[in-house]
Amino acid sequence: MISSEECNILVDCGFSLKQTEKRLGIAGVQPDSIDSIVVTHHHKDHSGSALGASKKWGSSLHCNMGTAIRMGWRPIEECKTFGNLERIDFSSKMSMLAVPVPHDDSDNVAVIASDGRGNRAAIVTDLGEAPKDLINHLSGCNHISIEANYDHSRLVSGPYPDSLKRRISGRGGHLSNSQTGEILREACHKDLHSVVLCHLSESNNAPHLAESEVLLAMGTEFGGSISISRQAGPEFSYWTDQKGPSRLVAA
Ligand SMILES: [Zn+2]
Ligand SMILES: [Zn+2]
Repeated sequence: MISSEECNILVDCGFSLKQTEKRLGIAGVQPDSIDSIVVTHHHKDHSGSALGASKKWGSSLHCNMGTAIRMGWRPIEECKTFGNLERIDFSSKMSMLAVPVPHDDSDNVAVIASDGRGNRAAIVTDLGEAPKDLINHLSGCNHISIEANYDHSRLVSGPYPDSLKRRISGRGGHLSNSQTGEILREACHKDLHSVVLCHLSESNNAPHLAESEVLLAMGTEFGGSISISRQAGPEFSYWTDQKGPSRLVAA
């Protein structure tokens, strides 16, 4: 979720409605304070309860046309569609840019949020590789949440069938720890305050592998903090001008 003083925007809504409301509660967010829900692509782990949530909470639902068609959501009545690389304005200050990324028979996007005061945060998941223009946009962000889906040798020696291994590691699959490290090394700059690694595979990755590989790739240029977002979370939140996370405590 991305919040500013003006609005709360949930990026992707793939847990059940009940789980989502529980997790928002841990973060101290009232579900009906979510102004907008942005869905990056049609895969169920990103879109599953988005329409139900938008109706229940009175939040506007946003996605691109490709995702709306795959979800069967009616544009205008049920969702607002945006164009890839088009700025989406949520309030006078908060806006987002949707940057297309290659992923598995979908029209997936990474999102770059801007609060109009020079703070930018990115959420990047489900991509087999990072296009150059995405890296350019990431180089202007103070916060980056990005997937580190698999450790290459764990995937190769792991339990998945070969066809699935090829799909995950292919151009339309997911990012490995070393790809994520390389992207962050390229995008790193002195005002990158925080990185969160997310969408870790439980079968093919482990938090210590992801964190160490990414930190090694980023080297000494990165002076911010790094955290892992776990499936059981949320455990923390970040402000774009803060270097460290604020811990959340479950009620
Ligand atoms: Zn996906
Ligand atoms: Zn996913």
